[in-house]
Amino acid sequence: MTREPSALNVARRRTELMLAAEERVDVLVVGGGITGVGVALDAVSRGLTVTLIDAEDLAFGTSRFSSKLVHGGLRYLATGDIATARESAHERHLLMTTIAPHLIRPLGQLLPFSQAVTLRQRTAGTVGMGLGDLLRMRAHTPRRVLPAPALVSARTALRLMPALDQRGLRGGVLSHDGQLVDDARLVTTVARTAASLGARILTRVRALSLRADGASVEETTTGERFEIRARAVVNATGVWAGALDQSITVRPSRGTHIVLDAADLGTPSTALTIPHEGSISRYVFALPRAYGRLIVGLTDEDSPGAVPRVAQPTEPEIEFLLSSLNRVLATPVRRDQVRGAFAGLRPLVDSGSDSTADISRRHLVTASDSGFVSVLGGKLTTYRRMAEDAVDLAIETRSLPSRRSRTASLRLAERDVPASGELLDERTGLTEAEVVYAVRVEGAMTVDDVLDRRTRIGLVDADRTRCLAVADAVVTRTISELF
Ligand SMILES: Cc1cc2nc3c(=O)[nH]c(=O)nc-3n(C[C@H](O)[C@H](O)[C@H](O)COP(=O)(O)OP(=O)(O)OC[C@H]3O[C@@H](n4cnc5c(N)ncnc54)[C@H](O)[C@@H]3O)c2cc1C
Repeated sequence: MTREPSALNVARRRTELMLAAEERVDVLVVGGGITGVGVALDAVSRGLTVTLIDAEDLAFGTSRFSSKLVHGGLRYLATGDIATARESAHERHLLMTTIAPHLIRPLGQLLPFSQAVTLRQRTAGTVGMGLGDLLRMRAHTPRRVLPAPALVSARTALRLMPALDQRGLRGGVLSHDGQLVDDARLVTTVARTAASLGARILTRVRALSLRADGASVEETTTGERFEIRARAVVNATGVWAGALDQSITVRPSRGTHIVLDAADLGTPSTALTIPHEGSISRYVFALPRAYGRLIVGLTDEDSPGAVPRVAQPTEPEIEFLLSSLNRVLATPVRRDQVRGAFAGLRPLVDSGSDSTADISRRHLVTASDSGFVSVLGGKLTTYRRMAEDAVDLAIETRSLPSRRSRTASLRLAERDVPASGELLDERTGLTEAEVVYAVRVEGAMTVDDVLDRRTRIGLVDADRTRCLAVADAVVTRTISELF
């Protein structure tokens, strides 16, 4: 068995599951998305004992369906929410300089001055990027980490984004933000970092009900039910938070991305930013990704009713994204070139607004009448601050030993580069070593965990189908070797 302290795997889980049923911990965290793992890390690094449970897998919910950007908060400036914008820029600074520089790269974003982009949109975009740079300066993020915005010529714009329509192209403005290697990878890494400090991370354990001092839970692979006792409980279940805390009304908003072959846009390393028709504050982004793919997003659609296990993109959303992108391209991307699509639900707190796009993205931290804490809303970018606020409130309401949060200066675990080894799939470059690592160190229990959350091969159905059997065989063998 792998002895690395941050290693998560089925053998460790088996031992810790038994301990979780027997021993009372300081903090029980419910939900293993970015918010929950952030809370677990914040609490354990303050010296508190922690158990985290997730009903499914790490990053099973919204956290794996984001745009994978570490935002500077420009969007919030447009809505006049200066506090949230500054918080975002500050957290981006910490993530890119101290906490996770190994998981984030600076990403150039080009707003092209194409025929389809009006003078008003060009001006608003340029001013906005200047304001974004002020946020960067206020957060003290150096230019070597995030270069300043610059106007670029048509020639440079075409070099950065070869698929642009050159007719009437008048250059553009180039700015920079942070891009995660992957959002699910961030979640797994925060969880591993918490585990390295002693937190128990238990996937496939569902909370049935919460109290101030614990939860009734079910281990979902066996159906076995038991109690977990804790001095404080934090509900970090995102769009599902209302099911455990009736005082919260979540208003989920669906955001969809489509997946394209990057080669169809000339394999750019820069992102493309296209204003929605007639808008100066809403954009469609085309973002380069791993495996020679590119994602185009995103939508913002009210998604009322029962919360689905996995949200599904709709055909009108896919068509909207394609047509927005095609407004600035020389050769339109066709529907049959779309390799995949995915959707996530924003856990927005209902504020009575008409449109979900108008609901604040600031997070909510609240103590329920029964004495547990709920934390939701916010962004991936601000997970650390959300976690700090949630643990502060848990300490206060449950009189836990009070220590200050340490996460602002705590670097996340490294990921050993899995030794190269047998290539399992040529198209995606999946290796046997990568699957073994996912099972031995990153807590994968099934082939779905590997394809959909430890790697992102599952974002394209054809890739997933091709890799399924061969990856499954490696998962089964590796699990048997762990016992
Ligand atoms: C389309 C889209 C794009 C986005 N892009 C960005 C971006 O680029 N940058 C950014 O900063 N933010 C972005 N966001 C916001 C960000 O993704 C979310 O705010 C964040 O991922 C929410 O994380 P969470 O941990 O609160 O929820 P989730 O990730 O949904 O985690 C909740 C977890 O709780 C578990 N759970 C549910 N019920 C139970 C139960 N009863 N017992 C145990 N476990 C349970 C679930 O299995 C799940 O794993 C985006 C959001 C969307 C929808």
